[in-house]
Amino acid sequence: PPWRALVLTLFPDAFPGPLGVSLAGQARDAGIWSLDTLQIRDFGLGKHRQVDDTPAGGGAGMVLRADVLGPALDHASTLSPDAPLIYLSPRGTPLTQSLARSLAEGPGVTLLAGRFEGIDERVIAAKGLKEVSIGDYVLAGGEVAAMVLIEACIRLLPGVLGASESLTSESFETGLLEYPQFTKPRDWQGRAIPDILLSGDHKKIEAWRREQSEKLTADRRPDLLHPPHQKRS
Ligand code: SAM
Repeated sequence: PPWRALVLTLFPDAFPGPLGVSLAGQARDAGIWSLDTLQIRDFGLGKHRQVDDTPAGGGAGMVLRADVLGPALDHASTLSPDAPLIYLSPRGTPLTQSLARSLAEGPGVTLLAGRFEGIDERVIAAKGLKEVSIGDYVLAGGEVAAMVLIEACIRLLPGVLGASESLTSESFETGLLEYPQFTKPRDWQGRAIPDILLSGDHKKIEAWRREQSEKLTADRRPDLLHPPHQKRS
């Protein structure tokens, strides 16, 4: 069966968006993965299908109601029973290449895209939602974050990328940032491709790339070289 992405959202029209083109779109057409959306408003209350209300304790904005999200998530679980339930949230575990890989190895993902001030906290424990963040900034809604997570997973699915080589040397896969890439022309605006890359000496090229990767990583992301100790579970 295809790897299945199911997204609960108030804006299903946002999908597939960029997931419908290029690699992801072709892989979906080929049946490697599938994408479905579930309109949260279909679970809304009353004739106005209300989904949100004012925050308990006061404050700005609106919060998605537990008695709307609960039934929506229950329905999602019947559609995709084995997929982990993930709430995209700036408070979540950071999305990393290794998290994407472990999700890509599973049956798929069911993603809840928040809006407004977020969701009623009780839903998280009641439905066993795992919170995942795509970075330390705040988006207006979870839809783009859901697409980011899905796209990171899709390109790891077997058969999506042509040459498996294109994965193994990439940033994060090696624990380092990727080395600089060049292509034709050999000289461009007075800037030449490093001679070594044109030398045909594969050993030297490999050593140069490794050195560049290490230097870039040390300069830009020293945290990748000295990761904080993982929390034991
Ligand atoms: N009040 C929330 C807070 O301060 O943590 C932010 C709510 S945000 C305006 C609305 C929705 O966007 C969230 O429910 C979440 O689904 C999504 N979102 C915003 N930033 C995100 C991020 N960095 N990663 C993942 N999802 C994000």
